[in-house]
Amino acid sequence: MDYKAFFKLSYGLYIISTESKGIKNGYVANTAFQVTAQPAQVAISCNKNNLTCGMMEESGFFSISVLKQEASQKLLGAFGYQSGKDINKFEHVAYTTGKTGVPIVTEDAVAWFECKIVTRVDAGTHVLFIAEVVENQLTEPMAVPLTYAYYHEVKKAFAPKNAPTYVDEALLDTHQEEASGAKGLKAKCLACAHIYIPEEGDPEGGIAAGTPFADIPDDWVCPVCGATKDMFIVL
Ligand code: FE
Repeated sequence: MDYKAFFKLSYGLYIISTESKGIKNGYVANTAFQVTAQPAQVAISCNKNNLTCGMMEESGFFSISVLKQEASQKLLGAFGYQSGKDINKFEHVAYTTGKTGVPIVTEDAVAWFECKIVTRVDAGTHVLFIAEVVENQLTEPMAVPLTYAYYHEVKKAFAPKNAPTYVDEALLDTHQEEASGAKGLKAKCLACAHIYIPEEGDPEGGIAAGTPFADIPDDWVCPVCGATKDMFIVL
């Protein structure tokens, strides 16, 4: 099988949220799509290991926030690469509460949907939830939604392990090309596979373009997932 072929499937990036037993949680997903127009139904695919998955089974509701292209790394890092078991993801994020009681992330969102689960399909490692839209809002009509391709190519990040589209890099031959083509220059985050490129630096994190990885201060963290500098390997 050619695993790189899967990269040619197009996706957006969303935050799926829910609340159960007074606890709010959410995660970054790239699988959310409209299933029918009448009634308006959508579907999402969620890894059973995600804390949010079991919470959605309990609550029967979830929200989808459609992220904009300029969505902050802080937001993507908190919801995409950290677990609700360790942190309260809603502590430092703008959100509203829907009429079903689910939290809806409004920060960096161009639109959101509040949904009631009507069908659950067991797909092995994942659960496919089909849900009816009970409320929605177009919050930023002119903003461009973030796509998975943009996230992968421009922000140089990869899907976290629980994503349905996660590809084990050992299965790709591009990793070897990256390493041999830029020996001693780039560095890779072992948590999220983000590649630090010295020529680009990390301006958002205060690292000027042209800074070698070795010269970055020890308290710098991965701009994508928040992992510490020692989680990086120099390629
Ligand atoms: Fe990272």
